[in-house]
Amino acid sequence: MTSKRDYYEVLGVGKNASQEEMKKSYRKLALKYHPDKNPGDKKAEEQFKEAAEAYAVLSDQQKRAQYDQFGHSLGGGGFGGFSNFDDIFGNFGDIFEDFFDVESIFGGGRSRSRGNRPRRGSDLQYKLTLSFTEAAFGKETVINVPRFETCVSCNGSGASPGSKKDTCPECGGSGQLRVSQGFFSIAKTCHGCQGQGTKISKPCSECNGSGRVQRERKINIKIPAGVDTGSRLKVNGEGEAGINGGPRGSLYVYIEIEPHPFFKREEDHIICEKEISFTQAALGAQVEVPTLDGQVKLKIPPGTPTGKLFRLAGKGMPNLHGYGRGDEYVRITVVVPTKLTEEEKKILRQLAQLRGEEIENTKSFLDKVKKNFK
Ligand SMILES: [Zn+2]
Ligand SMILES: [Zn+2]
Repeated sequence: MTSKRDYYEVLGVGKNASQEEMKKSYRKLALKYHPDKNPGDKKAEEQFKEAAEAYAVLSDQQKRAQYDQFGHSLGGGGFGGFSNFDDIFGNFGDIFEDFFDVESIFGGGRSRSRGNRPRRGSDLQYKLTLSFTEAAFGKETVINVPRFETCVSCNGSGASPGSKKDTCPECGGSGQLRVSQGFFSIAKTCHGCQGQGTKISKPCSECNGSGRVQRERKINIKIPAGVDTGSRLKVNGEGEAGINGGPRGSLYVYIEIEPHPFFKREEDHIICEKEISFTQAALGAQVEVPTLDGQVKLKIPPGTPTGKLFRLAGKGMPNLHGYGRGDEYVRITVVVPTKLTEEEKKILRQLAQLRGEEIENTKSFLDKVKKNFK
């Protein structure tokens, strides 16, 4: 037997390398010497195997400790190495799934080939519409989410109560079929059982053999104050049921805020329009303006023009991350009256006269028109 290289040396890491370091280093080597990248290259093949063996030992706490103590002369408890690629892929399926774009290397077969493995349930999305004030103050609410639950009737097995699952005759229960490709063989998902390794002879009538049923679930959620359209809340463990005992997915609640009749939002600030009369604008006034906390009095100084902004500090939206509240801005519009009584007109004409302003006298103007058409 030829002398073996030191495993740390093979991976190019120090004796105290962390799992993360070794994984990284192994990933590099595995990609470099991968048989798909080096077809027919015996040397690359050897290096690929060597790296896999080194990583297999060093990534295992117990084996690593043994190796650190005894080196390659492990005796009976030693590590035999891999005889072929199939072995490597078989042992390191999970690692390779982490490392590679599995689809591209294995033609889509491998990632789904481990059918019996527990799989996390899918994530769910839910759109929740809130009013402006609900967004401002937060809300606790119950939403109805249709989702897959483990079938109670068959306890998720998919087999009719009393019956059991049979081993798939096509793959003998492994869920995989081996296919030779070039100098190494790869495993593909068994089509007979979709990788499950078992077949149900009498499917459960409640779930048609899927082991899961769709149910509407009431889920209590707490909306924090300050959410905005586009905010996303993650509710852990309230997504779809997992498969083969895997954990549930997550529920994502997407928030949409209804427009408010007079408040507009800009980040944590809110803007509202306030109309005042031209006399109020000229003489100054105290007017009531709406805020999220109710009406407040706003002092309009004399000579306030249209478009003037007043700031009400701390009357805006609460910050979603707890950094206080934004401000409210009140934008003033000065309204010119369109309907005036005779009395009002008289007073305004007097004002115009006092100020030496030229005004159109509607009555005399009409008289002129009438005269001209006589
Ligand atoms: Zn069932
Ligand atoms: Zn099968």
